[in-house]
Amino acid sequence: MRVLVVEDETKLARLLARGLSEEGHVADVAGRGEDALWMAKAAPYDAIILDVMLPGLDGFATCRELRANEVWAPVLFLTARDEVEDRVRGLDTGGDDYLVKPFSFAELLARLRALVRRTPGERPTELVVGDLRLDPAAHRAWRGEVEVDLSAKEFALLHLFMRRAGETLSRQRLLDGVWDMAFDGRSNVVDVYIRYLREKIDRPFGRHSLETIRGVGYRLRGDT
Ligand code: CA
Repeated sequence: MRVLVVEDETKLARLLARGLSEEGHVADVAGRGEDALWMAKAAPYDAIILDVMLPGLDGFATCRELRANEVWAPVLFLTARDEVEDRVRGLDTGGDDYLVKPFSFAELLARLRALVRRTPGERPTELVVGDLRLDPAAHRAWRGEVEVDLSAKEFALLHLFMRRAGETLSRQRLLDGVWDMAFDGRSNVVDVYIRYLREKIDRPFGRHSLETIRGVGYRLRGDT
C-alpha cells in the first residue's frame, strides 16, 4: 500500500518510511500538516500516519482539513503519552485510530492493515481473484496451489490490481499507487513491471489475466 507519513521528527519519519518500504509498501514523508494537505490531494494514499504535535497546523487540524477536502484515506494518529486524553478529539476530527508513542513497528503495521481492511472492498485478510490469492500480512501470493515468488514492487503491483480487479488502471494510477513521489513518471517502469508480473502469474500457468487495454492501461480480469 501507499502511505503518507506526516511527522516532524526527521529521525522517526525516516525510520517509519524505511520500515514501510522494507515491508514492500511505498511511503512519502511530510514534515508539516500544510504539506500533507497538497500531497494527499496529489496521490491516492491507502493510509495516512499523522503525528498530533506538528509545527503550524497540528494533526487534528490537518485531519479536519483533509476530510473537508474529501480525502478519505484512513488516518492513524501518533500521539505522545501525555496527549492520550486528546484521543477522543482525534477520532472526532475524522481520524480512524491512534497509536501512543513509543510504539512497536509491528503494531503500527497491524493497525495499518486493519484500517485498510475496513475501507470498502478491502475487508478480507486475504484477497482472492479467480485462483489468484494474496496475503498482505504474510507477503505471500499463490496461483492455485503454487506459491509465486514476487519482489516487493511486483507484490505491491499485484496487490493493487487485486484490490481493483476488473477495473482498467492507467499507467499513471499504477505509478501513483506503487511508486513514490521521487520517481520519474516519464519512464516505462510500469510496463517493465507488468512484464515481470506476467512472467510470474500468467505465463507459467498458460494464463492471460493481466490485459493490456490499448491506449489506457492495464486490467486484471475479474474471472482470472
Ligand atoms: Ca511531532
